[in-house]
Amino acid sequence: MKRIFTKRNLLIALAVVIVGGSAVLLVNRLSNGRSDSAAAASGQIWTCSMHPQVRLPKPGKCPICSMPLIPVNQPSSTNQSSGSMLELSDHARAMASVETVLVQRRKMSRQIRVVGKVQYNETALANITTRVEGYVERLFVDYTGIEVKPGDHLVEIYSPDLLVAQQELLIALESQRGSALVESAKRKLLLWGLTQAQVDDLVRDKKISDRITLFSPIRGTVTEKMVVQKAMVKPGDILYRLANLESVWVYLDIYESELAWVQYGQMVETRSEALPGESFKGRVWFISPVLNEETRTVKVLLNINNTEHKLKPGMYVSAVIRAELLANGKPAPTGVEGQWSCPMHPLVVLPQAGECPVCKMALVQIPGTPASAKPVDDQLLSVPITAVLDSGVRKLVYVEKSKGQFAAVEIVVGPRTDDSYPVLSGLSEGDKVVTRGNFLLDSQFQIRGLPSLFYKEGQATAAGHQHGAATTPPPTAPKPAEHKH
Ligand SMILES: [Zn+2]
Repeated sequence: MKRIFTKRNLLIALAVVIVGGSAVLLVNRLSNGRSDSAAAASGQIWTCSMHPQVRLPKPGKCPICSMPLIPVNQPSSTNQSSGSMLELSDHARAMASVETVLVQRRKMSRQIRVVGKVQYNETALANITTRVEGYVERLFVDYTGIEVKPGDHLVEIYSPDLLVAQQELLIALESQRGSALVESAKRKLLLWGLTQAQVDDLVRDKKISDRITLFSPIRGTVTEKMVVQKAMVKPGDILYRLANLESVWVYLDIYESELAWVQYGQMVETRSEALPGESFKGRVWFISPVLNEETRTVKVLLNINNTEHKLKPGMYVSAVIRAELLANGKPAPTGVEGQWSCPMHPLVVLPQAGECPVCKMALVQIPGTPASAKPVDDQLLSVPITAVLDSGVRKLVYVEKSKGQFAAVEIVVGPRTDDSYPVLSGLSEGDKVVTRGNFLLDSQFQIRGLPSLFYKEGQATAAGHQHGAATTPPPTAPKPAEHKH
C-alpha cells in the first residue's frame, strides 16, 4: 500500500486539485454578487464541486477539501436559470468572454489537400522495335532526352535479309509472272518495317538498299535508348522508348474517409515546389476500383496539360481538391454530368452522343444531374466549428436566445469543411451561437443541473459526477495492492 504514493500518483493528484480548483474559481466568479445573508434567507444549499455529498445551508469552505463551496441549482440574483435556460449578467458574460456569431446561409465547400506524383501519360508511350535482323549502321538519335516528331529518322540498320527481300520484289516485277508474287514481296517489305513510300521508291527506281531506316511514330521525348553504334539487333529488340510529355498524369492517394468528396470530372489544382507561383489544373478522370490495404488509400488519376514540359515525371506535386456542397451536404456536380464519354477512354468528354475519337466505340452519357440543372439553393446553413461541442455521441451548441439568455441546442451537422459545419437540423438562420466561452457555459449548465453536453436530461443536483461519493471501487477495478510498480 505504501507504494501507491509514488511521485506519479502525487503529480496526478496535484493536477486534479489544480484543474478542479480553477474550475471552481471561475464558477464562483460567474456567480458572484450574492451576499451570504441573502443566501441563507432564500434557503440556498451550498455544495462542493468535488464532493457533491456536502450540502450546507451557507457558503464557506468544503469540510473535506477546503475548496470554496458553490450554490446548488437555485436561482441567484445574477445568473438565473429558467426552464433549461441560463441567464448571465453583463459582468458574468464579460468574465466568461462569451462571443457569438449569427448562423448564416452561405456556399460551403470541402477542401482535400493531398500529395501527388507526376507520371507518364500511359496512352502516349511508344517503343521503337526492329523487325529485321541486322547491324546498327547509324544512330540519328544517340542520346536520351531528344524530342522527336512523327516521321523523324531514329536509326539506320544494315540488314542482309532486307537485301534478299528487295531482290525478290525486283525479280517478281521483271518476270511479269503475276501480280500475286509482287504483292506478297511488297507485303513482306512493309511487314519488315519499310514505309509505303520506301517500297514505292524501290518499285520506281529499282534501286536496292541494304539499309532500313526506322522512323518515330509519335511526337515525344526519347526516355530510354537501348541501342549503340554497330550493335547487332534481332527482330523484337526494343531500340528506344518514347514518351509524349505534352500531357502527364498525376497520381493522388486519397484516404477512404475523403473518397466521398472525389468525383470523376472534378477539376483539381496542383502545385510543384520546383515551379513556385505556378499552378496546373487537371481533371479527375480515373478513380481506382481497388483500395491499397497497406496505405488505406485509393489511387485517383488526373490528366494535366503539359505542353511546356514543365511537369516532369517523378516530380511530387501538392493538390487541392475542392468539392462544393449542396444543401443536403452532398458534393455538387462537377460539370461533366450529362455529357458523353467513352467507356474505354474516360478522358474523352464531349457535349453530344457519337463515337469515341480514339477507338470509335459508341459514347455513353455520364450519369448525374447536369450542371445546368444545378439547384440554386446550394447555400447551406453554416455554423463555425468553434461553436460546436462534440461529446462523440452528440453535438451541441449554445444559443443566445435573447440578451444574456443561453440555451443548449442539440444539432445534426454534415461533413466538416475548413472552418465550419453545414447544419442539417437544430438551428435556423439568424440564431446567435456561442463561439467563445462555450466550454465555460457548458460547465455552468452542468453545475446548475441543466441539460448540457454530457447530461442530456440535466441533473437534479450540482456536480452530478458521482466519483466523489463512491467509496467502494467497482468490482472490475483492480485492487491497489495488485499494482506492481
Ligand atoms: Zn474510346
